[in-house]
Amino acid sequence: MSSLSEFTGAVLSAAAAWWLIRRASRRAEQGWVACTDWEVKHQSFSGVESDDLLFITDFDATLTSGDSEQCHDLMGSSSLLSAEFRAEFAPLLDWASNTAIDGVEWWDRAHSFMIKHGMPPRQLIPRLVREAKMTPRPGALELLKRLETLGVPVLIVSAGVSDVIEEFLRQHGALSENVTICSNRLDYAADSAPKSVSPDPPITSFTKQYAYQSASTFFSAHADRRALIVLGDSVTDIDAAEHVPYHTSLSVGFVNSRPDQAAHAQAFDAVVQGSDGSLWPVMEILEEMTERVPLMRRVTSNHLFNTGTPK
Ligand SMILES: [Mg+2]
Repeated sequence: MSSLSEFTGAVLSAAAAWWLIRRASRRAEQGWVACTDWEVKHQSFSGVESDDLLFITDFDATLTSGDSEQCHDLMGSSSLLSAEFRAEFAPLLDWASNTAIDGVEWWDRAHSFMIKHGMPPRQLIPRLVREAKMTPRPGALELLKRLETLGVPVLIVSAGVSDVIEEFLRQHGALSENVTICSNRLDYAADSAPKSVSPDPPITSFTKQYAYQSASTFFSAHADRRALIVLGDSVTDIDAAEHVPYHTSLSVGFVNSRPDQAAHAQAFDAVVQGSDGSLWPVMEILEEMTERVPLMRRVTSNHLFNTGTPK
């Protein structure tokens, strides 16, 4: 080997090391913590192309910041809605006093109040969402834009309210054709007041494993895609990928302000800490996939990430 090629190799290795250190430091600033099997799982993604990929994500406190109001919060807090409705609905959001109502029953009761009071009126939804304390997580809009550009199908599996999610995405220019929402939809028929909520039973934090069934049209349309990225802020969000056939997957959990991340570290391949923890590291996975950093990827995979056989 000539001294020139040895010199070039040394420069490339040094550049790769520098780039990895910079990336690690940037990710740490963004709240990113790789869990035990991350490098192995990440390596198994190295051959994945964007047309192999399906993206499954939670909405509340995942695509929005951890301290944002969540879909159902708006029903109890917005002064745009009737005082009688809020008086009946708000106690459901007081988690200290309603521990007796848990599981699917919570959603049934919440939706029954919405139907009983005819809230929210359809025409108020844009203003309800615009005035809510609901903000995109850092990097969320850029990530959704990139997924749209790459034509990656995105399934949002949420125990929230489809109409609110759709309006939020619309107001942020992120309601693109590649996005499908699997959540609880208000059925207005021809009226301005909701007449029912579908599906029945509702989609809840406890029943996300039914997403494969509930979103069967989405999954059958993309049955040839066998690489999954799954995001969520509750450990049960990972259940949305249950029953979905795949060859390889990566999952990222958002701890938000929880003091203990142990359960998340167990459930996900990587976690992001903090209510404003960023989605940029997820964007980087897409960038690696689309070879925007081909030199670094080639050098790192040859020299530094040979960690063995992928799972
Ligand atoms: Mg959530």
